[in-house]
Amino acid sequence: MLSEDVFMALTAALGPDRVFADPETLALYNADETPRQVTPGAVLFPASHDHVVALMKVAYTHKLPVVPRGAGSGNVGGALPVANGLVVSFECMNRVLEFDLDNRLMVVEAGIVTEEVDKLARSAGLFYPPDPGSGAYCRIGGNLAMNAAGPRAVKYGVTRDFVLGLKAVTGEGKTIVTGCRTTKGVTGYDLTRLIVGSGGTLALITEATLKLLPAPESVATLRLCFDSSRAATEAVARVMHQPVVPCALEFMDHHAINAIRPTGTADDLPAGTQALLMVEADGAAIDLPRQIAALDRALSGPGLLESRAGFTREEIVRLWTARKSLSHAVKQIAPLKINEDVVVPVTRLPDFVDTLDNLAREYRIPVVSFGHAGNGNLHVNLMVHPDDMDEMARAHACHDQIMHQVLQLGGTLSGEHGIGTEKRAYVGLEIDADTLSLMRAIKKQFDPTGILNPGKLLPD
Ligand SMILES: Cc1cc2nc3c(=O)[nH]c(=O)nc-3n(C[C@H](O)[C@H](O)[C@H](O)COP(=O)(O)OP(=O)(O)OC[C@H]3O[C@@H](n4cnc5c(N)ncnc54)[C@H](O)[C@@H]3O)c2cc1C
Repeated sequence: MLSEDVFMALTAALGPDRVFADPETLALYNADETPRQVTPGAVLFPASHDHVVALMKVAYTHKLPVVPRGAGSGNVGGALPVANGLVVSFECMNRVLEFDLDNRLMVVEAGIVTEEVDKLARSAGLFYPPDPGSGAYCRIGGNLAMNAAGPRAVKYGVTRDFVLGLKAVTGEGKTIVTGCRTTKGVTGYDLTRLIVGSGGTLALITEATLKLLPAPESVATLRLCFDSSRAATEAVARVMHQPVVPCALEFMDHHAINAIRPTGTADDLPAGTQALLMVEADGAAIDLPRQIAALDRALSGPGLLESRAGFTREEIVRLWTARKSLSHAVKQIAPLKINEDVVVPVTRLPDFVDTLDNLAREYRIPVVSFGHAGNGNLHVNLMVHPDDMDEMARAHACHDQIMHQVLQLGGTLSGEHGIGTEKRAYVGLEIDADTLSLMRAIKKQFDPTGILNPGKLLPD
């Protein structure tokens, strides 16, 4: 419970109807996509940068933990409240402040929904490439904090690559403005790239200047079926070794294919299919047949059972049906998934998928893997029954092994979901003590009293 004087100070800072501490509102904002829940002391709805400055000054004076929040779609506990702390929801800060076509940029407030940025850009022949699967509801502030990405990252890059500058508020309530409005600029340290991916632990982002690109004219799709995960992932390394860059290169392993079989969406896969690659090319319509032929050539090799191309909208939708049915189908395997988002170099993917199969067998846990193979980024899901203590113990041991194996293969613990509360314990395995202590010192400069999203990202 917030004290009366803190509640009054926050209401004075934001005005009426922007500070809520009633049980219904607290319950609505007590979790993200992770299964845990923590009740905050209040939920704040600032409507401007000045509101965020004002609320941070109150939080700094009273040493109140502050957890920024977009849509709460994160799956690592990044937006999980701190007990009795403040949740700052950016949903009322959702305006487009500037759309500059000639300079190919858009200035937006942090609470705008990601897909709306892309839709507006496309209405003028441009596009915003980062395309997280949650794009229809997640918000730019959350994407920036997690450096979100999606299938298009293999060709275009991740959120960080499309941010020219930021306006943000530090843990002391100071306004900082980073970056510039141009695609070149080296004045001062690159605080933009530091804040992007910092999980709301360094500053509250209020505005972002986003870089846009000309929208591709057309897309075409290839669906390739393989007799093993190893054969499919060997093809991934081959395709990344030639000059035509796909704009999506997605993988599904045999556990994923088995999961969709009951839905009927795997019925048109040839017998013996144990792994799938979905490959997309974009560009001028006249050039797509050439690109698809080059990709098909590079992907052909041992273990390929079938390759199908789609150029029309109907063909493309049909080819993606199996992949699109996966999220729902996986939930039928077991009630809980321990969801990892690890990355290995693409050349190590074949060894990694073998390792996953071996660990699944050894620990007797269904491990369903799929994801952005072109970046070496796999979503590895350990499917478990939370009430089965023996299974949970085996799953945690298996999970531990997976994290160690990823690092042994030269990989990294998170490709796009971030660290939050859920992966903090593993950060010390990847980052050495001296580097971690420099990171802690940086955090102290931005947030001297440690009130910005405490208990997230950096290990204690
Ligand atoms: C079905 C589904 C599909 C998904 N697919 C993808 C995917 O393809 N790629 C991907 O990368 N992720 C994906 N995600 C994860 C999630 O959607 C992303 O992490 C997304 O970026 C979170 O945005 P959000 O607005 O929901 O942020 P939240 O979950 O609310 O917050 C995420 C983090 O950002 C911080 N934060 C939020 N706003 C601000 C701000 N203004 N300033 C500073 N910090 C802030 C929060 O404190 C938290 O640490 C998926 C999630 C779901 C449920």
